[in-house]
Amino acid sequence: MAAKTLQKDIMQYYKESQAIKDAIADAERILIITHVDPDGDALGSLTAVGLAMQQLGKSVTLAVDGGLLRRFSFLPLADQIAQSADNTTYDLIISVDCGDEQRMGHTFADLPLPRPTLINIDHHVTNTNFGSINLVDAEAASTTEILTLLFNDLDIRMTSDIAQSLLTGLVTDTLGFRTLNVTPRTFEIASQMMQAGADLPTITMLALNLKPLSTLKMWNVGLSNMRMKNGLIWTTISKAERDALGYNGTGSGGLVSMMSDVETAAISVVLNELDDGRISVSFRSRPPYNVADLAMNLGGGGHPLAAGCTLDGPLDKAETLVVDLSLQAIETANHD
Ligand code: 5GP
Ligand code: MN
Repeated sequence: MAAKTLQKDIMQYYKESQAIKDAIADAERILIITHVDPDGDALGSLTAVGLAMQQLGKSVTLAVDGGLLRRFSFLPLADQIAQSADNTTYDLIISVDCGDEQRMGHTFADLPLPRPTLINIDHHVTNTNFGSINLVDAEAASTTEILTLLFNDLDIRMTSDIAQSLLTGLVTDTLGFRTLNVTPRTFEIASQMMQAGADLPTITMLALNLKPLSTLKMWNVGLSNMRMKNGLIWTTISKAERDALGYNGTGSGGLVSMMSDVETAAISVVLNELDDGRISVSFRSRPPYNVADLAMNLGGGGHPLAAGCTLDGPLDKAETLVVDLSLQAIETANHD
């Protein structure tokens, strides 16, 4: 099969591009949403679509349940990200990097009915195709990788600001081009973004490397609670432990990826007790172990090698459930 290039083909890269183009042409006021606990791909995608729609003369609202993370405040349009939609009536919603409707949190759930056309742009293999138009490419290393190809189809001019947002998603979701889903296409896109003015060293430093001291203290607690059994490496961090450290983040802050690098680990898991008593669960794995299925069976989703879900507490009950199912998944894959 001939690989499509990033050069402007006569054919559009995605078959969904024309329907997306038509829906945008019909809209004046556009609400752009990404997922709760946003990461670099979520916020890079959100701001890139915001800039692209502004370039087309649209009025845009950027909203994310819980708002922006401080370390991403270098992104263009970061100061315009709201925690919820305003009272405007929207003609169109564009959702980026969300595998299902629940991932958009209150920002989406609180919108009045009937809702307008919804474009769902995402790269999670577990995506439920919840949109009126669904552009889901599970081979893309980030949602911003999809957006780069889509913007080309939509004749969006690649500015340095758009490139900065797009490259941020690519760098963070691939952990600096180290994940196993990086392809030649990923590098081709990264190169195009840098040529358009994206600043890779700044993105790597601010979006990937720098972290608060409290994150390392949280890792310290997580590593001392860590256990390993039959290829499963896991840990828990309780709310009391986080409070004692002054750590107010909700994610595992990179701990789960570090644990997955243990040579004898098949699956790694971090269970984090949230302020409301629910448990945020992060999974990582190496082939052939697949955590997307595991997370989806627990009401979450993600990618084959990186996934997550949110469970009811208490922590020890959630831990027992997750450990049992993860050990079963390892056992099953070992016999396939
Ligand atoms: P992380 O462990 O970095 O928070 O998430 C890893 C992957 O799993 C990401 O792609 C993220 O979107 C997905 N993920 C994490 N938590 C949830 C969840 O509660 N629901 C769904 N559908 N996906 C999740
Ligand atoms: Mn992503």
